[in-house]
Formats: sequence, C-alpha cells, structure tokens
Amino acid sequence: MNDDDFVPQWIIERKRDGAALDEADIREWIARYADGRLPDYQMAALAMAIYFRGMTPAETLALTDAMMRSGDLLSWDGLSRPTADKHSTGGIGDKLSIPLAPLVASCGVAVPMISGRGLGITGGTLDKLESIPGYDTRLDNARFREVVDRVGCSIIGQTDRLAPADRKLYALRDVTGTVPSIPLITASILSKKLAEGAATLVFDVKCGAGAFMKTPADARALADSLLAVARGAGRRAEALVTAMDQPIGRAAGNALEIAESVELLRGGGPADARELTLRLAVPMLTLSGAAPDGAAARALLEAKLSSGAALETFARMVEAQGGDARVAEAPEKVLPQAPAILDVPAPRAGFVARADADGIGRAVLLLGGGRRAVTDAIDPAVGVSGLRKAGEAVAAGEPLLRLHARTRAEAEALVPQALAAFDLSDAPVAPPPLVL
Ligand code: URA
Repeated sequence: MNDDDFVPQWIIERKRDGAALDEADIREWIARYADGRLPDYQMAALAMAIYFRGMTPAETLALTDAMMRSGDLLSWDGLSRPTADKHSTGGIGDKLSIPLAPLVASCGVAVPMISGRGLGITGGTLDKLESIPGYDTRLDNARFREVVDRVGCSIIGQTDRLAPADRKLYALRDVTGTVPSIPLITASILSKKLAEGAATLVFDVKCGAGAFMKTPADARALADSLLAVARGAGRRAEALVTAMDQPIGRAAGNALEIAESVELLRGGGPADARELTLRLAVPMLTLSGAAPDGAAARALLEAKLSSGAALETFARMVEAQGGDARVAEAPEKVLPQAPAILDVPAPRAGFVARADADGIGRAVLLLGGGRRAVTDAIDPAVGVSGLRKAGEAVAAGEPLLRLHARTRAEAEALVPQALAAFDLSDAPVAPPPLVL
C-alpha cells in the first residue's frame, strides 16, 4: 500500500463509528506500528475504539495474523510427533503447565510451550520454573527445537522475535485502559501461540475472583473468540472455562508450586489440580490423534502418571534446560526454602465456604512472591501451602494455610489478610465445580 492511500485517522474514525475494518488496512496498520512508522497515540486511539466497538471474527483473525507475522514463525515440520500446547488465561496457584507438558509428551505428543511471567497477582510459569536452580528459560529457537525433539517438551519464555507487535501493543494497552477487550486479548494471546507453531491448542479460560474474566458470560465469549480465530488459522482447538474463585491445588508461590507439580507427576497431589491437568491433557491427545477418544486418552495419561514416565520426562526436560534434575526426586533438597514458616489456625470449627483466590494471590505478592513493578525481583521461596479448600471441614485451631515468609515478622503481619480470605460456614458446603 503506498503512503497516499493510508490515512491512519480515517481508519480510527471508521472503527470509532462502528464499521468493520478491511483486512488490508489492518495488516498495513500493524506492519507500520511494529516498525515504528505509526505512533503510539494513533495505536492507542484505535485500541480504545476497538475496546468500545469490538471486532468481527474476520477482523480479529486479520489482526491476530498480522501481529503473528510481525516476528519469527516457528515450524515443527519434520518432527516425528504431532505438536500440541495449552494456554491458560492465568490464575492463582495455576501451575498446571508444569505437570501437563511432560505428561502429554510422555504420551507421544510434543509440547513446545512458550510461557509468560506473573502478571498482577497471577503467577507465571517461567517464574516458577526459574525457582529450580540452573533452569534456563531463555533458549534460542534452535535449542528449543532440539529439546522438544529429544525430550518431547520444553517450556521457555517469549523471545524478542516472537510477535513483537504484541509486546509493544500489550505495554501500550496496559497504560491506556484497553486490556479487557476480547478481540485485543484474543489477538494478543493467539499472535504468540500461533507463531509458536503447535498444531493443536487447548485453552483454559479462567473465570472468577482471581481471573481476568469475572463472569461465565465473559469467559465464554473469550473462549468462543479464541476458538474461532485458532480454527480460522487452521489449528485444531478446544477450550475449557474453569473456575478461578479459589487457588488451584494447595500451594501458591513459585518453588512451592514446583514441589506440588512434582507431587502431581508422581501420581499424587491435590485432587483438583490432578483433575484439571487430566481434563486439559485429554483434548491435547485426542485432537492430535494420540488417543481415539476421551476415555482412552484419560487411561493413557493415568498410566503415564502411575508408571513414573511423566515424572521422568519432567526430569529430562529440567536437565536439558540446565536445571537440577534431582528436583524430580527430592524437591525439598533442591528448591529454595523460606526461613520463616507460620501456620494460620482456623478461628473456629466449620466448613470452608470460601478460600478467596484474589486475597490469597495478594498475600503471596506481599510476601515477595510477585512483582509490584515489572523490574522487581521475586523471591522464589515464599508463598502459601497447605491451603484448605471450599467444602472441606476444619476443626478450631487447625491450619487454614501455612505462610512461607522471609521473616517471622512478615509472616505475622500477613495473618489478618490470610484469615480474611476465608469464610467458614456452620453448615456443610458442597465443593464448587472445577469446569464451568
Ligand atoms: N494474556 C496475553 O498474552 N494478552 C492479553 O491481552 C491478556 C492476557
């Protein structure tokens, strides 16, 4: 398109007035934004117009594709196994990628996974993995491919060359009130996931107090949008809308979640985390053709957990990425431990009616397990463990959770906040559903 035909403010005006944009204009827009020919103020104005007016599925697909093509496109041609990946929209205690990738890989489906860091109070898979001494999340494309080929899975961070238009736009959205827009979230997530190249994508769209999407209707709309664009881009895709009112599992905090992931890979671990891992893994196998149906997929996955094959694949991935693979046998000997540990007792007997994901996520951040500014270092050892979950009975004085802190004083200061995250009921409470 030559410069005379492209007038940015006319495109902004069309979206402002509710029209759908042409594919060619969207492509040209993103190409210019990515290489700096289009200023942030016009991108911000268009993002706000999109926030209010939305986008059709065709526009969202064009935007995603243009953002994806702003950087490297990985290809898995020539790999002996089909490829699949999972994306979660983020939650508290959501460590599921860590057991899931080696579990699925042990069933014959390669998992090339590019993950993120913690955002707000939600934890990030990369931060968790970096609590394993030596684990390197910054592999280049050639080493990433080599590890996926040899081990079956690899979990790394986004490189500067993967969907750079998203990197730039995400930072701009963050400071212009334009994050919670379904087309913009869809394009942001999928520009990275499609560039990563896996043929099958499974989405875990979190819904509730500790998630971006607070209502089932919004979560469902995001799931539908992710599916439409992923399928429109030629990928096999499935989505689950899952509850994020309470943390997943019984631990939140980086090293503590690695320890819990090892428990899961040993075939144990908290029931909710195990069930969600299996529910997300099943479509990764069936859509990839590694199992004929859901029941066969589940049986295969359970066998790989109980035989130790999934745990062994995890140890090989850690080793291939420079980490201390003994974490798979004795996490307590390898992972950093917080110096101060304090149990928070239930003030009375009752049934847990609420273990609030948002309140617990904030407590982990305040302990030093999350960031207040992007440049903050996190403390991998701190967090919470032994969390009691909705529906469980507790006796007076029994711990509701255990705080892992840098000092006794920091732990004590957080007790009121930790207690405020729990509601106890006299009457029995039904455990909430995991999948909505
Ligand atoms: N995660 C992303 O990568 N992008 C968004 O816009 C929201 C969540």
